[in-house]
Amino acid sequence: MKRNSPVELPDGYVEFYKALETWQNEQQIKLQKNCAYSKVDNILPLLSEQKRPIIIIGNFIIDPHEYKMVFGDLLTFISKSRPELQEMIEAISKDIVQLDYDQLIKDLLNSKYETFATLAENYGTSTELLVFLFEHAVRPFLRIYAAPYQKELTEDTFQHWDFPSLCPVCGSKSHFSRLRPIDSRRFMFCDRCFIEWEAKYLQCIHCGNDTPGTIKYLSIENDDAYQIYTCEECKGYLKTYDEKQGGRSTDLFIANIETIYLDMLAQEKGYTDHDI
Ligand SMILES: [Zn+2]
Ligand SMILES: [Zn+2]
Repeated sequence: MKRNSPVELPDGYVEFYKALETWQNEQQIKLQKNCAYSKVDNILPLLSEQKRPIIIIGNFIIDPHEYKMVFGDLLTFISKSRPELQEMIEAISKDIVQLDYDQLIKDLLNSKYETFATLAENYGTSTELLVFLFEHAVRPFLRIYAAPYQKELTEDTFQHWDFPSLCPVCGSKSHFSRLRPIDSRRFMFCDRCFIEWEAKYLQCIHCGNDTPGTIKYLSIENDDAYQIYTCEECKGYLKTYDEKQGGRSTDLFIANIETIYLDMLAQEKGYTDHDI
């Protein structure tokens, strides 16, 4: 189904992300043959006790050799789909054998970007773009690692984890949720590792406020399935896809990208996604 966005997105913007997601799915299928991660048993009590994401509890490690291959493949994909970046991609490609992937992956997972800033300067590009490249090459690994935990994380025994806006597997901040059609329960979605976990329907994911009447929702005319929940306490907002209104499930990764107009609407009205 084609959705009409009330704001004009740059040409090819959504298509680029769709192609990137397809590329990541393909990498994941290839990697699955060699990448076996051991799963931590009985993770729910450990999460409650340690209050740390599973990649830390389970000591998630990416093989630097496997990563180098995926990263090289990503550079090829990007230079085809974004020809304007070709020069920069070539500069990185020349370095590809000598980069310290062990360190770069560690820094990326710990959100430490100093090394990326230095490298970006060498390649004549921005730190953001370089981090974007390394980040998207990490995601196929993270998704393989995360998938076996999905069942436990959506069980009724794991309702309402202490940090509803943060992914219990990778620790990344989520800005998107869906409402399940059978009972309208809310599930947060991590666009990094593709895991879902439950959050309370009428409680702010940012500050925990649940005072009646202070959590409200907005939607755009003729587009009731895509909503923004706002909190009057911390002025936070959360984008949401209501599967009952939409009549079907949807690709939440793409839905998050397609609904940039909802972020703009929320921000115009003075709300924030509390991203750092
Ligand atoms: Zn995650
Ligand atoms: Zn709040």
